[in-house]
Amino acid sequence: MSDRVVVIGGGPGGIEAARQVADLGLPAVLVEQRERLGGTPIFANYAALTPYFANAEEAMDAMIAELAQRGRAEVRTSTTVTGLSGEAGAFTVELSTGERLDAGAVIVATGFDHFDPGRERQIYNYYQYPDVLALQDLEAQLKEHKVVVPSTGRPPASICWVQCVGSRDRNIGNEWCSKVCCGIASKQAIEVRKLSPETRAYIFYIDMRMYGYWETQLYWPAQEQYHVQYIKGIITEVLERGDRLIVRGEDTTMGRPMEVPMDMVILSVGMEPSAGTKAMSDVLGIERNRHGFIEVINPPLDTVTTSRRGIFACGAALGPADLEDTISSAGAAAGKAVALVRRDNLAVA
Ligand SMILES: Cc1cc2nc3c(=O)[nH]c(=O)nc-3n(C[C@H](O)[C@H](O)[C@H](O)COP(=O)(O)OP(=O)(O)OC[C@H]3O[C@@H](n4cnc5c(N)ncnc54)[C@H](O)[C@@H]3O)c2cc1C
Ligand code: SF4
Repeated sequence: MSDRVVVIGGGPGGIEAARQVADLGLPAVLVEQRERLGGTPIFANYAALTPYFANAEEAMDAMIAELAQRGRAEVRTSTTVTGLSGEAGAFTVELSTGERLDAGAVIVATGFDHFDPGRERQIYNYYQYPDVLALQDLEAQLKEHKVVVPSTGRPPASICWVQCVGSRDRNIGNEWCSKVCCGIASKQAIEVRKLSPETRAYIFYIDMRMYGYWETQLYWPAQEQYHVQYIKGIITEVLERGDRLIVRGEDTTMGRPMEVPMDMVILSVGMEPSAGTKAMSDVLGIERNRHGFIEVINPPLDTVTTSRRGIFACGAALGPADLEDTISSAGAAAGKAVALVRRDNLAVA
C-alpha cells in the first residue's frame, strides 16, 4: 500500500490539488509535461484574470510559491505518465523519465486546449488575415499593455469580438458552452477601452452567458463605465475589403443582415479537451464523456470521481471551467484522494 498521491498536470488545478494533498498530510508528486508549472494561464500568456483583473503571472507564481513551501509536495517538470498498473491504494505509476512511483491515488488535472479557429471551417479567415486574432492572441498583447492592429502597428479605431467560436456548434461537434468566453471578451473589452479610450469596442453575441457575479463584475461595467456595445447577432464570415475587415452576419434583434467594417476582429474561441487529457484517459484506463472530457461517475453530487477506483480528476480536464471551478474541484479531488488512501491503508492495518 502507498499513501502517495500522484497529480498529473501542473496548471492551477494540479497545483491546488497537490497543495491540498500535502496540507492534508500526505506526500504528493506533481507531474507536469512542460518545463514549468502554471498551466494555460502561463503558456498562453494570459494578462489579467477575470473577474478581479489580477495579474495572471503573479497569481500563478503565488500558487507555485505556496506549493514550494509544502515539504510534502514534490514537483517533476518535463515529465508525463506513460503507464499505470495495480489498483486503488497500491498503484504503480510509470513516468516518462523511466522511473516508477508507488501511489495510493491519482488526480488528473490535464486541462484544456483552445479551439483552433481554422480547424473546421475557414469562415473567419483566422490564418489568412493578420488582424483576425483569437482571445489568447489579444491576451498576449494586453500582457504587454498595448493594443495594436498587427498589420499597421497602430491602435485600432474599432475592434470587435465574435462569440461562441468553436462552442455551441453542432456542425463541428462542439455542442457545449465554454462558459468563460463571454466573461473573457467583456474583460478584454474593458482593458482595451482603458488602454485606448478612442477605440470603439463591439461584442457580437448569440446570447450573453455571464455566470454568477460576473454579471455585475464585468457585464454591466463594460457597458456602463466603458461603453462597450453588445450586439445580438450571428456572424457568418469575416472578409477583407481594402485595408479593413468586414464582419458579415445577421442582427438577430432587428432581423436583418449586417455588414460592419472593423480594424481588428477577436474570435472568442472555446475550450476543448486537451491532447493530454485524452492521452491520460487512455493511459489510466478512465472513461471520457461524449464530448471528450473526463467522465465522472455520479454527477452532480460527486464532481471528481472517475470510472476507475482511486483516480480522480479536476479542473478543465472535466469540462469547461473557470479558475473558481478549477480550484473548487481540485480541493474536492484532493479531499477524496486522501480519504480513499487513508481508508485503504486503514483497511490493511
Ligand atoms: C482565452 C481564455 C482566457 C481565460 N481567462 C480566464 C480568466 O481570466 N479567469 C478565469 O477564472 N478563467 C480563465 N480561463 C479559464 C482558465 O484558463 C481555466 O479555468 C484553467 O486554466 C484550468 O486550469 P487546469 O489546471 O484545469 O488546466 P490548464 O490550465 O490547462 O493546465 C493543465 C496542465 O496540465 C499539463 N498537462 C496536460 N497533459 C499532460 C500530461 N499528459 N502530462 C503532464 N502534464 C500534462 C499542461 O501542460 C498544463 O500545464 C480562460 C480560458 C480561456 C480559453
Ligand atoms: S460563454 Fe458565451 S461565448 Fe462562450 S460558448 Fe458560452 S455563450 Fe458562447
